[in-house]
Amino acid sequence: MSVHSRRSVLRGAAATAGALAAGTAATTAAAAATTTGTAIGGPKSHVGPADPRYGFLAGRGYNERFTGSPDHIRLVGSTDDVVRAVNDAVRAGKRVAVRSGGHCFEDFVDNPTVRMVIDMGAMTGVYYDPARRAFAVEAGATLGEAYRRLFLGWGVTLPAGWCPEVGVGGHVAAGGYGPLCRRHGLAVDHLYAVEVVVVDRAGKARSVIATRDATDPHRDLWWAHTGGGGGSFGVVTRYWFRDLPEPPADVLSFTLQWSWEGLHEPVFTRLVHNHGRWFERHGDRYPDLYTEFLLFRRQQGAVMLIGQVSGAGAERVLDEHVAALGAGVGGPTSRTQERQPWLVAALKGSDDTFGWRLKVKSGYLRRPFTDRQIAVAYRHLTTDDPHIVGGAVSLNSYGGRVNAVPPHATATAHRDAILKLFYLSAWAEPADDARHMAWIREFYRDMYADTGGVPVDGGAYIGYPDTDLADPQWNTSSLPWSTLYYGDNAARLHAAKRRWDPRNVFHHALTP
Ligand SMILES: Cc1cc2nc3c(=O)[nH]c(=O)nc-3n(C[C@H](O)[C@H](O)[C@H](O)COP(=O)(O)OP(=O)(O)OC[C@H]3O[C@@H](n4cnc5c(N)ncnc54)[C@H](O)[C@@H]3O)c2cc1C
Repeated sequence: MSVHSRRSVLRGAAATAGALAAGTAATTAAAAATTTGTAIGGPKSHVGPADPRYGFLAGRGYNERFTGSPDHIRLVGSTDDVVRAVNDAVRAGKRVAVRSGGHCFEDFVDNPTVRMVIDMGAMTGVYYDPARRAFAVEAGATLGEAYRRLFLGWGVTLPAGWCPEVGVGGHVAAGGYGPLCRRHGLAVDHLYAVEVVVVDRAGKARSVIATRDATDPHRDLWWAHTGGGGGSFGVVTRYWFRDLPEPPADVLSFTLQWSWEGLHEPVFTRLVHNHGRWFERHGDRYPDLYTEFLLFRRQQGAVMLIGQVSGAGAERVLDEHVAALGAGVGGPTSRTQERQPWLVAALKGSDDTFGWRLKVKSGYLRRPFTDRQIAVAYRHLTTDDPHIVGGAVSLNSYGGRVNAVPPHATATAHRDAILKLFYLSAWAEPADDARHMAWIREFYRDMYADTGGVPVDGGAYIGYPDTDLADPQWNTSSLPWSTLYYGDNAARLHAAKRRWDPRNVFHHALTP
């Protein structure tokens, strides 16, 4: 998902499509509301249902399908605050969950059994730590805050997600990818260390700093945070990153559309083929080109290619790519492009909408879609049901530097994909839940009909969690959900989980 999909593409479009919009003003406001006060860590940091802040804080999760009802939200301002909050939760026998940016797609935080939410919204520090020779970013910072402060302070950036309102806390633990990753690798490929509040067998909370140093006895805790996903090992208070790259001075941002009017099935098939073949053959030669190819449902009028490209030959690279996509199809029906300073592009999206009901799914592609899969996509994207508007599958460019890292070096096992897939259904009314859930579930099942309804060849991304992968009704393959998300790394993650959270204090439906 991206800035463009929010700002240029979906604003004013069918309401349900707006859920592709990523940003939430609420997230920013949460950070602002808590960083300026002095009460963090004091009595005012315990926010119960009678507190006027409760509704706002309890409701800041991105997916409107889920609502939490914790007894307390704990606003924390330091690692010690987190230790205290976790000790209180364990002592009281309350299920605890942690929220940073609030952009979780599943109910891992907003679940009725969660009785205490630790809200990291006040821990937003970004600084250089000379002792560790690394940049420290606190877990409550949004990606946008991290980008702005790293760039303005030191001229560097973290290669990570395209949505500036996503929280560093959950994003990095999931792996974290975005526009600069084909050039510079994933966010976790730069992760040097992590500070985590964990709970020992006796039920006592303490903070641990785990590094990637080969001699570090806590190294497996660092490793678990390089793609094992958030919410399963403890509370991350800060990450340290090394070897952060300089971003490009400017980027060419673009939005292209192919109207559905011209996309009869053979044309649609050719277009999707052209796209997949290009990434299979040429993708790695153009690491500065980032694209999301958004195959929206036909009711939305068009499919779109959005993204950015940098470097001196940016216009030429884009022209060549667009020409390759249009071979035998014809050019796009509309095209806009704009050169911008990199930071402007990176921070776009803060005026976006919030408040949609969502179901998402994911997959990695090692090879382009097959003819059968393109035919399935065409069928599900063009069904006539007028109530299902906000559905799409997005094919996001991947590979490049991401694939230069061995699959076991980090917990992110998927190091051979050319494209990352993001399936989305988005709607407004609870009464429409069943219809939209059925649409995306059947679409996904049919795409992977040859492999038990799930992406056995390629796997899935824990940053786009989908609890259906753990449901035998929807995963009829022989692979458990954990193998789909973690490949061969699943067993090692289970071991880290047993070591660092022996009482299973931190858990959700997709905990390793
Ligand atoms: C609009 C939108 C755009 C996105 N764009 C991208 C993208 O470009 N690239 C990409 O890779 N992903 C993207 N994602 C996915 C995103 O990376 C994940 O949803 C991520 O987990 C969100 O982190 P968060 O802190 O905002 O969410 P939260 O809801 O706060 O947390 C998500 C999960 O992580 C856990 N968690 C959060 N903070 C901590 C912490 N401090 N310690 C331990 N566990 C924690 C939570 O308990 C929960 O299980 C996007 C998601 C959305 C909704």
